Amino acid sequence: MSASPAPSALSVAGLRAALEPAASVLVPDDDGYETARAVEPGGIDHRPAAIVRPADTAGVARAVRFAHDAGAEVSVRAGGHSVFGLGRSTGALTIDLRGLDALDLDVATRTAWAGGGMTAGAYSTAAGTRGLATPFGDTGGVGIGGITLGGGVGLLARSRGMTIDSLLGAEVVTADGDVLQVDAEQHPDLFWALRGGGGNFGVVTRFRYALGEVSDVVGGVLLLPATPASVAGLVAAAESAPRELTVILMVMTAPPMPMIPAEWHGRLVVMANLCWSGSPAAADAALAPVRDVAAEAGGAIFDGVHAGPYAGLLEGGPQGGSVVATGRTFFTDGVDEAAAAHLLAELEATDAMMRAVQLRVLGGAVADVPRDETAYAHREAAVLGNVAALAPTAEAAAGYTPWVSALAERLRGGHDGLYANFALDGGPDTARAAYPGATWDRLAAVKRTYDPDNVFRGNVNVLPA
Ligand SMILES: Cc1cc2nc3c(=O)[nH]c(=O)nc-3n(C[C@H](O)[C@H](O)[C@H](O)COP(=O)(O)OP(=O)(O)OC[C@H]3O[C@@H](n4cnc5c(N)ncnc54)[C@H](O)[C@@H]3O)c2cc1C
Repeated sequence: MSASPAPSALSVAGLRAALEPAASVLVPDDDGYETARAVEPGGIDHRPAAIVRPADTAGVARAVRFAHDAGAEVSVRAGGHSVFGLGRSTGALTIDLRGLDALDLDVATRTAWAGGGMTAGAYSTAAGTRGLATPFGDTGGVGIGGITLGGGVGLLARSRGMTIDSLLGAEVVTADGDVLQVDAEQHPDLFWALRGGGGNFGVVTRFRYALGEVSDVVGGVLLLPATPASVAGLVAAAESAPRELTVILMVMTAPPMPMIPAEWHGRLVVMANLCWSGSPAAADAALAPVRDVAAEAGGAIFDGVHAGPYAGLLEGGPQGGSVVATGRTFFTDGVDEAAAAHLLAELEATDAMMRAVQLRVLGGAVADVPRDETAYAHREAAVLGNVAALAPTAEAAAGYTPWVSALAERLRGGHDGLYANFALDGGPDTARAAYPGATWDRLAAVKRTYDPDNVFRGNVNVLPA
């Protein structure tokens, strides 16, 4: 595979002639280039050779064709939340999909076509006005593009499954600029690969989703003291809860937020993000085991659990730019008190300005789907975890990478897979862990069919078979 041509080798005049007016083109020194190249997470300083902003599928197809013919790498920018800047290659042609944000929602069939550049928050807010939802993550600013293609694990995961479990079809621009309609009947191999295999196979200009009835939910943040018993107890309570309850735990040093009493600032707490999407009348009973854990730990420090629209639970997300994160994702079969004690001791011992272990309890509808039905191959994992450290600069953050790796290694137990959407890098070891065994072989065959030259390589990269 040849490297991308240097920025100057991509003919700007040729690019403009090929693309405008169907897409606007920004190159370094153009007004708007600096703003357009910014992404959400801090510390990512990539300089694409050009940023193309298409208005429609035809504009995307022209941009991909141009890049393919020029031998340039294509990177795709949707919600801009790629955790560690995957897909942000200096010298690549970036296709910015933010202009493709139309939502066509059909209440009668409970299906929707959504533009590939839309955010999860915009989609969920619009669907919520009809009492409907498709499961995405926990953050509204994340793009439906990235989260869907990597899998999608969020606040409705246990009740309604992953995002890919609601995906019905997609419109895809492949590496040679063809536009394909993809679903269970048309290009089924590609449809399988899109459900977890990431941005390896083309640019998705539109997604077609199923929607479920989700009106008000009971959810929000419950903050409690972090002890080995409270961490392990919450994981156990979430695992054995009815599937309408999804719990995402963040074990962390309490930030100086107004809702947290000052005496807790800087001390270890568990921020439990809860979402009960069952009958409101059954909420108290379903949440009782979680509240019992809080009571045994000395009582909730803050209780923000309330009834309200599901879309209201999706956080705005961190403001990028000011801090840089390093992290390591893992799956584990559970977190007992010994593992919880170890993670608390490690969080206490490190001097990172912010550090956290996130634990997303899975099971429920996530585990209903057979392992080989989609390209997400970790259906049986009980918990999806992340260890993260934040620092003021990229260099300082890199200094904590051995620490996050060692802690994740201890917590994963015997599980050696990882979730592509939280991957630190897109290299071969990461890709093999995200896509183990038969999943890898199948993805590599699909890659050979639709992107044999690996034009789409700014991702957890699957090499063509
Ligand atoms: C604050 C935060 C919260 C998060 N919360 C969750 C969560 O709750 N659950 C979860 O599962 N994940 C979560 N994630 C991870 C998130 O799903 C991934 O980082 C995802 O890749 C972001 O998608 P994006 O479109 O915003 O990012 P981008 O950086 O725009 O895209 C990331 C990559 O996805 C691919 N891609 C995106 N859109 C398309 C498209 N239309 N066609 C082809 N390729 C495309 C490209 O390879 C691109 O490089 C979170 C990330 C952050 C930063």
